[in-house]
Amino acid sequence: MREKNLSITDAPEVDAAWLRAFRRRVLAWYDKHGRNLAFRNTRDPYHIWVSETMLQQTTVAAVLPYYERFIARFPNVESLAAASEHDVLRLWEGLGYYSRARNLHAAARSIVSDHAGCFPQTAAGLASLKGIGRYTAGAIASFAFDVPAPIVEANTLRLYCRLLAYRGEPRSTAGQQRLWSFAERIVPRKHAGRFNHALMDLGATICTPRDPKCDACPVRANCAAFARNIQNEVPAAKARPAITEVTEAYVALRRNGKILVRQREAGERWAGLWDFPRYELPAEMAVTCPPLGAGDPRQKRLALHDETPSGPVDFLQSQLRQQTGIEAEIAKPFAEIRHGVTRFRIRVICYAARYEKGSTKQNAALRWVSPGDFASLAFSRPGRRLAELLLAAEA
Ligand code: SF4
Repeated sequence: MREKNLSITDAPEVDAAWLRAFRRRVLAWYDKHGRNLAFRNTRDPYHIWVSETMLQQTTVAAVLPYYERFIARFPNVESLAAASEHDVLRLWEGLGYYSRARNLHAAARSIVSDHAGCFPQTAAGLASLKGIGRYTAGAIASFAFDVPAPIVEANTLRLYCRLLAYRGEPRSTAGQQRLWSFAERIVPRKHAGRFNHALMDLGATICTPRDPKCDACPVRANCAAFARNIQNEVPAAKARPAITEVTEAYVALRRNGKILVRQREAGERWAGLWDFPRYELPAEMAVTCPPLGAGDPRQKRLALHDETPSGPVDFLQSQLRQQTGIEAEIAKPFAEIRHGVTRFRIRVICYAARYEKGSTKQNAALRWVSPGDFASLAFSRPGRRLAELLLAAEA
């Protein structure tokens, strides 16, 4: 039975013998137990860059189909650079964090125009490209070119904290300095790509956030947290931000069988994606909206609700007029869509509306679209849900 107060220093002595044993154990374990991921079977920096960018904030399972579609459509950096931003966003739709897609596109153009289509081969050169941070630079440099570049991402951050029995806040400036300097110290001069993959897999499959599988861990002899029996206490738990409830309204405005859509502007969430006119409801109106059934894209008819609170109707008419210049008759709410974005839990009440007067000709961000053409547009996630509802209602 190990004791929590075993008399060892907080951090292990990372000397040459420690490093040799650690690297040997890590690489031997990886040869037998490394994950066989589709996007691993390549040394192509473009493919590695796309997969690593998609994997930020997103699980492997969610990324795989997106990665395959993206590479099939844009097989190299030249094809990505030549694409329109809207086409890139359409393929990214549903993955979230769309600035990743916009940065990928901008960096592809820079690689083609400023680097003759060739990726820089150092972590520093890669990090000079838009959207490529220290982790992604290290991943591309080591996976594609075997450059001994360190990495710290969610899995390795947890692994390093435990190896070092690091009790501080790992995302603080001091914590980041400590972990990056440890990552620099341990990365070998040869086989850096395999080594970094191995560390990530070890974190993902053995040194898991809860109940790490220390009995199966190849580096438990190197692990200060294991020696002190504090592996479930480090890293320190992240404080969760308080959830904020928000109520918004969609206006599904109809004119001659077409629906008004709006492209979100720079600076707005989901910039560049299409959406329906959408407004946050003031708190006093939000509470008067009756709860409606969640929108079901499979339903054939949109069930109109009997009660129509008048406050939101006047408010939405005025908002729509100010934003689009269009006068409309707002009818009853017919559906409700719920979704979450970072710390916001959002309820969107969907109102049907009928066009009365006004022109959208001067505004390129507004377009009248038949529901049958919604598939060609890149929508925000809730926008796609409403598009599916409206399309189903046509059937
Ligand atoms: Fe993680 Fe346990 Fe291995 Fe330490 S011994 S690295 S806590 S799995």
